[in-house]
Amino acid sequence: MAATSLQCKECKTPYALEARYVCERCFGPLEVVYDHERVDDVAEARRRIQGGPQNIWRYADFLPLEQPPASARRASSLSGLPAGCTPLIRADRLAERLGLGELWIKNDAANPTHSFKDRVVSVAVARARELGYEVIACASTGNLANSVAAHGAALGLESYVFIPADLEEQKVLATGVYGTHVVAVRSNYDGVNRLCTELSGERDWAFVNVNMRPYYAEGSKTLAYEVAEQLGWETPDRCVVPIASGSLFTKIARGFDEWRELGLVSGDGPTMNGAQATGCSPVAQAFAAGSDVCRPVKPDTIAKSLAIGNPADGPYAVELARRSGGGVDAVTDDEIRAGIRLLAETTGIFTETAGGVTTATLAKLAARGDIGRDERVVAFITGEGLKTLDAVRDTFTTHEIDPSYDAFEAEFAGARA
Ligand SMILES: *Cc1c(COP(=O)(O)O)cnc(C)c1O
Ligand SMILES: [Zn+2]
Repeated sequence: MAATSLQCKECKTPYALEARYVCERCFGPLEVVYDHERVDDVAEARRRIQGGPQNIWRYADFLPLEQPPASARRASSLSGLPAGCTPLIRADRLAERLGLGELWIKNDAANPTHSFKDRVVSVAVARARELGYEVIACASTGNLANSVAAHGAALGLESYVFIPADLEEQKVLATGVYGTHVVAVRSNYDGVNRLCTELSGERDWAFVNVNMRPYYAEGSKTLAYEVAEQLGWETPDRCVVPIASGSLFTKIARGFDEWRELGLVSGDGPTMNGAQATGCSPVAQAFAAGSDVCRPVKPDTIAKSLAIGNPADGPYAVELARRSGGGVDAVTDDEIRAGIRLLAETTGIFTETAGGVTTATLAKLAARGDIGRDERVVAFITGEGLKTLDAVRDTFTTHEIDPSYDAFEAEFAGARA
């Protein structure tokens, strides 16, 4: 494999490619480093990717797994539930409404468990199996629990998913159905995460976003690879991405950078705009304050999948937003509801609250005049609306009538015949 080691993001101390996530010297987070072969024949390298399977394993060369790339066609058996290759949709009606030029929606609700988390879980679970783990687990804000439970079921692995006890009912039901151990912790995500960190030291389990976190995070790069491929091997000018821990946001940028360095894709590194809910916006607050430190907050928002009050990759997200000329904005719960409706009404895509955060942030950037009409923009829609139905309750009226022609005519008297 092209991955050579784990490395501390802060002091650069190298570690073996094991289930570890924190530097013993400075407590910094670890990430995977690669030694990619130079790409001499770009056309051939692109053809190889295009000839791969219709899922994230077409990018196996850029992921931290041991299986030889030649076997990538059969690699869906690695993770059980092939993720990725989701639609990139040109959103002209939404662009027009917002006064934008070229706008694309990357619809990652179209994954096996309806969120982008299937990408990160696929990579973490595949690596966990290579390392010999038989139990998988996670600390989740909802979607991760869905995905870990489903992957466990697909592979016949026992799983434990830890969630805040106040999670949306749809997400709990869509998790328990897979026959996992659902552990509802009477706390918010940060309390759940602390418990899982403690448990990971005691149990020989693969916690996908704790001790497997360096591998997990790599899965988000596949969103950048896919968008680049779908845009004809070019980068977009700007990306709008929701932020919980900040992992997705930073790894999308990393994916574009890797391919630009290898010459696989042309164009500059995109401007990166992060999106948070006002009720849980430690990264947006740090960005606004010009600070590198994300002060932890107590989440209070309908965007529960983004409700991480103490984001692990917060400082890196702030730094990326600044370096790329972008920013991190926050939107209120009402703006989130309106964002869900706006996306649904102009594209036919029904997203969960996190996608409402993304759409509302896109609208805010457009209204502020931050986006040029000549820019090619991609908004990342990361989850499915059916999981957070309460967000659209009472936002429209249903016409209830008796089953008669006259009743219909009375109700719709003024409507087009
Ligand atoms: C987890 C999640 C995110 C963001 O995750 P990060 O922790 O920032 O990587 C975004 N959208 C949805 C729907 C999610 O479930
Ligand atoms: Zn270190």
